[in-house]
Amino acid sequence: MTALHEPVAATATGPLADAREQLREATTLLGYDEGLHQMLATPRREVTVSIPLRRDDGTTELFVGHRVQHNFSRGPAKGGLRYSPDVSLDEVRALAMWMTWKCALLDVPYGGAKGGVRIDPRSYSQAELERVTRRYTSEISPLIGPERDIPAPDIGTDEKTMAWLMDTYSVQQGHTVLGVTTGKPISLGGSRGRATATSRGVVHVALAALRSQGIAPEEATASVQGFGKVGRYAARFLAEAGTRVVAVSDQYGAVAAEAGLDIPGLERHVDATGSVVGFAGGDEIAAEAVLEAEVDLLVPAAVEGVLRGDNAGRVRAKVIVEGANGPTTPEADRILQEAGRLVVPDILANAGGVIVSYFEWVQANQAYWWSEIEVEARLAERMLAAWDSVNAAAARLDVPLRTAATCLAVERVAQAHQLRGLYP
Ligand code: NAD
Repeated sequence: MTALHEPVAATATGPLADAREQLREATTLLGYDEGLHQMLATPRREVTVSIPLRRDDGTTELFVGHRVQHNFSRGPAKGGLRYSPDVSLDEVRALAMWMTWKCALLDVPYGGAKGGVRIDPRSYSQAELERVTRRYTSEISPLIGPERDIPAPDIGTDEKTMAWLMDTYSVQQGHTVLGVTTGKPISLGGSRGRATATSRGVVHVALAALRSQGIAPEEATASVQGFGKVGRYAARFLAEAGTRVVAVSDQYGAVAAEAGLDIPGLERHVDATGSVVGFAGGDEIAAEAVLEAEVDLLVPAAVEGVLRGDNAGRVRAKVIVEGANGPTTPEADRILQEAGRLVVPDILANAGGVIVSYFEWVQANQAYWWSEIEVEARLAERMLAAWDSVNAAAARLDVPLRTAATCLAVERVAQAHQLRGLYP
């Protein structure tokens, strides 16, 4: 069942090529030798599983799922589970590597992992998705657990998915194991503040980034790509901070309003219809226009690779805060850097989710629950401390924020490798 990893030198495209290029830049700057680079670049463990589904109409279909544990030198592996028709092993590898850096950067005691099932969840009933989740969990269960690897929601999955995952694992173990997942419903050991944590973190950092550029958040404008678990609350918290959110998109289309979109109204529209399209409080615009809007702040909060060499030159936002993982390719990074745009990298900007996931795991392991106020305060403190340390490293090394963040994270993981030594 366990697949051998490809050698690091193997060619890759898309997010994996981007993740590898970012790591190569960091290990070169840090002066690491090729052996250490390869250890950092190569997933520790990968598994590919087949998931047969009995559909509601009695027919069967087969799906493929993956779980990649990139690194667990600093603690158990941690990372989301994605349901999307675009899932591939290489994409999961890239996302797992970014999780390793994110956990190290925020100094939570985890390594990085990611999982994915190649399925379009919108085409299946809840009962079918439950069966897919239970079968996938059952196949990967020898590899996961509170001390091994702790999944969480990502694109196409939610707290219900995590409840099924936790239940399946617990039934196999013979007792309830709350700490095997995070992002669970609150009534099942989820943490207060987890559902909005990624977006809260994005907005803490976005407001700090705007201020660092001399822009007052209450006078700023913003556009947000993606209106799911991350984009929706990011838009809400930005609007609450007084920032005018003038354009928003999802996979179906985009809406804009120069005076600022009524975000609570848009949320009600999305709850009722499933999309931002057709919202009466805005004008329909092309989806690409959200990325190229004349705004102070752009929050890409959908999928990877949306800011590329072919469109980065048209981005007019002064500050780009990555809610999504891997939205900016290295080529786009260079173009944005030359154009004087400030890019706050994903491993910093969207780390609020893993921070509160860590809090949820701590609470589950102690069976003691914190108040929402405690969770929010500790989240803000960690996000802003990381923002400060990445800025200090960027100034010291004279590099962009992404390079500084990656160097800080990679150095911590490499130190853990070196302190533990090589077995045997
Ligand atoms: P989600 O499935 O809840 O929402 C995704 C949103 O993006 C939806 O509104 C969808 O319509 C939209 N979308 C998809 N393709 C699009 C496109 N091409 N253009 C515009 N919109 C598009 O997923 P999510 O949990 O919000 O995750 C979004 C991103 O944030 C992913 O990159 C994910 O890995 C990252 N992330 C999520 C979390 C978390 O806690 N959920 C934490 C850190 C990072």
